[in-house]
Amino acid sequence: MNKKYYFSAFFVLTVLIVLFFTLRREEDYLAVNFLDVGQGDAILIRSPEGLNILIDGGPDNKLLYQVADKLPWWERTIDYLIITHYHTDHYVGFMDLLDKYEVKHILVTANEPNNFLYYQWLEKLKEKNIKLSIVKAGEDFVVSPELHWQVLMADSEHEDLNENSLVVKLSYRETDFLLMGDLPISGEQKLLASGIDLDSELLKVGHHGSKYSSSAEFLSAVSPEICVIQSGFDNKFGHPHPETIARLEAVNCQIKNTQDLGSISFTFSY
Ligand SMILES: [Zn+2]
Repeated sequence: MNKKYYFSAFFVLTVLIVLFFTLRREEDYLAVNFLDVGQGDAILIRSPEGLNILIDGGPDNKLLYQVADKLPWWERTIDYLIITHYHTDHYVGFMDLLDKYEVKHILVTANEPNNFLYYQWLEKLKEKNIKLSIVKAGEDFVVSPELHWQVLMADSEHEDLNENSLVVKLSYRETDFLLMGDLPISGEQKLLASGIDLDSELLKVGHHGSKYSSSAEFLSAVSPEICVIQSGFDNKFGHPHPETIARLEAVNCQIKNTQDLGSISFTFSY
């Protein structure tokens, strides 16, 4: 055997070792990414087992770039895609995503809006041969002994689509993440009345920081340490509202906004 052979073998071995450790690192932590998709919501969670959960898809194909940026280059599967409700800033980005990624499950409420965009969405699902799975409040999705998420609310009967927001509490070991969609105060009151344990370390603030969400009573029940707002720079709605910011400050949570920071990522190690 000549020197060239040894060099090639050494080179291949080095590449394999580097690759092995790169892949392994991906599996050592939970990543929760609040993606900067402008004015809209999109939250990408990657579990230590390599499971990908995407909650909402923002208003356009900015989602694709953000998802590609956060996932390993070889990853082409989204295991769970959750649509909190059918407003454009929460699901239009999924139209293009379905062309690029294999989506295994799509979780929604039973709400079916009567508009052109929704029919386009149904056409897209037919083309990709994907069925929607309707979830109900109280359902628990267990990923591992350390990671599960529970559906806290999945109303479908309201005229105002925000009130039909699917609310999810994701729990990883001792840390809880409360993801509110665009639920208004009326929905928060329903959650409070149900007696569900809302206490969470991290709150995805409802409705981009609108003043019609995040009541003082609700925030005190959640008692979050970190409050994430997903809103677009210079958005026409004036989100987040100064009154909401004041209410968040009153419960002493650390406020983080994608408008100021771009995508916001948290990682939790074993
Ligand atoms: Zn919204």
